[in-house]
Amino acid sequence: MRKPVVAGNWKMNGSQASVAELMERLLVERLASSGFDNLQMLVFPSFVFLGQVGEAVKGSSIKMGAQNVDWRAQGALTGEIEASMLKDVGCSHCLVGHSERRAQFCETDAQVAEKYKACIANDLTPILCVGETLEEREAGQTMDVVSRQLQVVIEAVEILGMANGIIAYEPVWAIGTGKSASPEEADEVHRHIRAVLAKEDVEIAENMQILYGGSVNPGNAGKLFEKENIDGALVGGASLISEDFLMICEAAALKVEN
Ligand code: PEP
Repeated sequence: MRKPVVAGNWKMNGSQASVAELMERLLVERLASSGFDNLQMLVFPSFVFLGQVGEAVKGSSIKMGAQNVDWRAQGALTGEIEASMLKDVGCSHCLVGHSERRAQFCETDAQVAEKYKACIANDLTPILCVGETLEEREAGQTMDVVSRQLQVVIEAVEILGMANGIIAYEPVWAIGTGKSASPEEADEVHRHIRAVLAKEDVEIAENMQILYGGSVNPGNAGKLFEKENIDGALVGGASLISEDFLMICEAAALKVEN
């Protein structure tokens, strides 16, 4: 059984005070609920709060990741942050290829693959985000787009490298729009992702945790998690509201119990 993962991508939000409040709620509830033992809770704060959150999660089972990474080694790259620095401040995970970075910061498939590679070289678990735009879905290109985004990374790290990561299917049209993919739509793409991996290695495909992301909230999480190939969620907006994030975690914990 694949362990469910619920990851909160806080994006460019928060203050030291709001981060302290959110972390206190998550840590208290995490301790109080044995149901959460069955899932991996992850938080992805802005870079400037990594030190603060790293201290807060020390000794707990909540893990912390970064929202982005540069693939190059330390040096004259003003404003960038490399993987070993993330590791040093307590990150265990890192998002790579989030659609906001692909679209607004012009990240290419090749750069995403380099970032993935840098993460695994530094013992960080990359969460590779893939997904199609609305135009691509309407043109019937969803599976092709997702295959291409995946294939570039598989070629860069070989199939064994994929075993060190997590994949998040995040249709661009569902992110921050309030319009989630239906459980059936999401499961179909997750199944496709697993099939792409299975062409190279059946066991790696079977063990891969594939998260869904795109307007997940307490109202739709349960139905999404009922699907066989949906192993958890990457949550944006709802991860900033502790009650909502915790309810999504509860829904993921039920996946294990059922
Ligand atoms: C995201 O940014 O990864 C995301 C899924 O956002 P939201 O949940 O707000 O759609």
